[in-house]
Parts: sequence; C-alpha cells; structure tokens
Amino acid sequence: MEELKPCPFCGGEAWQEVNSKKAWTRCAQCGATTAGFQDFHNTDGSIIDRRVMAAGAWNRRAAPENKPLTLYQLRQMDGERVWTQFRGLGMYGLVAYHSDPDGDDGDDIYITNNLGGRSTFEEILSQGGMVYARRPEGSETK
Ligand SMILES: [Zn+2]
Repeated sequence: MEELKPCPFCGGEAWQEVNSKKAWTRCAQCGATTAGFQDFHNTDGSIIDRRVMAAGAWNRRAAPENKPLTLYQLRQMDGERVWTQFRGLGMYGLVAYHSDPDGDDGDDIYITNNLGGRSTFEEILSQGGMVYARRPEGSETK
C-alpha cells in the first residue's frame, strides 16, 4: 500500500482506522480525517481494498507549498507555530512579534523553540537557518 503523506494542514503523521466495513485516514496531530471508504468493486470483479481507497484520498489532497517564511509573513503569525531549521536541527517553535514603537532597533520576530531557546528571525537567517509554516518533508533526517 502507498505510504501515507504528512497531514496537508499541520504536517502531522497520518494513520488509518479500519473496521469491518470502512477505512479512514486521520492526522494524529490535528484530527483531520478523510471520508470513510468502503472496498471498491471494479466492473471487472476486482476489489480495491478500503484502506487503499482511504490512503489514496488522503495523499491526493494537495498540501500547500511550504516555502521558507519571510519577515513580512512572520509579522502576521504572532502566536502561531512554525518549524525552524537551524544549526542542523529542525524543531517546532512559537512566533512572538514585538513591534518597537521607540524605533531604536526596529521590529523583531522572536521564535521560542521546543527546548525553550529563543532566537530572533535575524539570528536564524544570519546562521543559515530557515523558518517554515510546516515541517518540510524529509527534514527530520538532516
Ligand atoms: Zn494534521
């Protein structure tokens, strides 16, 4: 059976729920779910298993393009979760946007990661890092 792609909404891992009649593919993280699929009976008498049907429906769902985020985009993502690829490590972090009304050192985007570390967007970029809305596919091996 084809491998399940990450969730198109949050990048979470997908799994399948199967009972005696139907199969669903769900995201373990946000709960996004396909419709329930039954075995499909072809006119030639062959049968496509319900798990294959549910996997195909899940994998065909187009994931939005996951480009590195810009400062402009991050300013509109205060409090949202992002994926940082930084110093050879990939991890989730939270965006905090601090505008600087005094104007002495400009606006800053801070990203606090899973381990409690905090970096500015500038620091991440200056060290060759990137920030994404979701975990890029295959990034966990980096
Ligand atoms: Zn999800």
